[in-house]
Amino acid sequence: MEKTEKNTNEIISGPEAIRVRFAPSPTGYLHIGSARTAFFNWLFAKKTKGRFILRIEDTDISRHLEEAIELIMDSLKWLGMSWDEGPDIGGNYGPYRQSQRKEIYLEYAKKLVENGRAYYCFCSQEKLAEKRKAFMGDAKADYYEYDRECYYLGPGKVRENLEGGIPWTIRLLVPDDIEIKFEDLVYGSISVSSNTQEDFIIIRSNGLPTYNFSAAIDDILMEITHVIRGEDHLSNTPKQILVYRALNAGLPVFTHLPMILGADGTKLSKRHGSISIEAYRQDGFLAESIRNYLSLLGWSYDEKTTILSLNDILNKFDLSQINKRPARFDYEKLLWLNGHYLRNMPDKDLEKLILEKIRLDTKTFNANISDIDKKIKKIIPIIKERIKTLNEALDIIYVFFRPVSYQQDFIDYIKTNKDTAINVIDDAILLLSGIRDFSHDNIEAALRNISERKNLNFRKTAEIIRAAVWGSKVSPPMFGTMEIFGKEECALRLKAFKKIIA
Ligand code: GLU
Repeated sequence: MEKTEKNTNEIISGPEAIRVRFAPSPTGYLHIGSARTAFFNWLFAKKTKGRFILRIEDTDISRHLEEAIELIMDSLKWLGMSWDEGPDIGGNYGPYRQSQRKEIYLEYAKKLVENGRAYYCFCSQEKLAEKRKAFMGDAKADYYEYDRECYYLGPGKVRENLEGGIPWTIRLLVPDDIEIKFEDLVYGSISVSSNTQEDFIIIRSNGLPTYNFSAAIDDILMEITHVIRGEDHLSNTPKQILVYRALNAGLPVFTHLPMILGADGTKLSKRHGSISIEAYRQDGFLAESIRNYLSLLGWSYDEKTTILSLNDILNKFDLSQINKRPARFDYEKLLWLNGHYLRNMPDKDLEKLILEKIRLDTKTFNANISDIDKKIKKIIPIIKERIKTLNEALDIIYVFFRPVSYQQDFIDYIKTNKDTAINVIDDAILLLSGIRDFSHDNIEAALRNISERKNLNFRKTAEIIRAAVWGSKVSPPMFGTMEIFGKEECALRLKAFKKIIA
């Protein structure tokens, strides 16, 4: 048996031949880490004019939800990734769901048995547990490996057991004393002795393949040229390479993407904010900013460039520039990026997204939609600078359409200067009612006038008016906000507030 693997790049004949896959196990929503894996595969396929394949790894039925497959596909589409082959659209290498490929795995496993590269094992769980116990009891080794008992069964005995209906698994015969070597595009040259790998099970007693077997078989049969996946699979790669070798198949190029940690350096989890793409979508993030952010998890164009459009990413992305240092997922940075994209979006586009969200939110919002269509055009320019998510935009927008609610502590605060406040409000009611064209500039002039007449600094004056009209210390720019409310609504709010503090 040859001692080293072939140069991994040899099997690629040209850019057209590039085939990559994203192979999620459908256990739930698409997470940040998997989305990054999908995105890097997709980017690489786009850049090389290769093909991006979606394969669903759903052999472990109990853990898989039909619904999860839909959720994953939805999130991928929302992020703007489409696939060239997959369970929904088919392709020449299907089926693309592992649950529909069981016979294929079995067929290959049996072929390996015939060629002497794998063997049936009839050891029961209990027997294996005993072996393990005995081994660990008197050996110094800290790991146990299967002792090949069943490898030595003669063909007659194997047939007898099979015919007798004794439950079996199939194990790969791992050659002794060879180096399993491969070049990982990120982690570099990796070499593992085959002696560290036991004869692992490739077909379980229920007839289903183990992950390392089905993944390798599919990658071979689907002619995957580049396996790009998370670093957590690095330790599986030697096992998969053993399957390739047993079938005399050429290796793909392996690329393992660095781990993603939370901002505090611990394993990424819910504590660090939402981790599903769907949650970000619900929270009013843009696909654009998520994509931009994903691209920075393990890759960077240079040290300083943060904002990258999809085109920039497509132009600059390079698999060989991926860093093996763990990436940090920083929610604040993503939020900042999202704000950036919202601010720089044409008003028309932002309006469309906001209206879509409002229409979905029938629970919170029941104002007359035609009214909102008119007002929203004026609202967007004044809130655009201050929102970081679409949901933040909605929170502000709702204030325009709902009765204002005054917080008690804020009322108390204004009441510490009750007489001044009442005075200012009275003046405002009077002056504002006299404005014919209730525009930003005229409102400003009126309020400045009050502040001068009362000899009260303008900030103080505005604070009182804002309290009455908006109900808090901060609001979108005041004059524009008042213009949108209109004269009558402003007067109503001023009067109501006066009553409350009087
Ligand atoms: N189904 C595996 C996972 O979701 C993918 C493994 C692979 O890409 O080889 O982690």
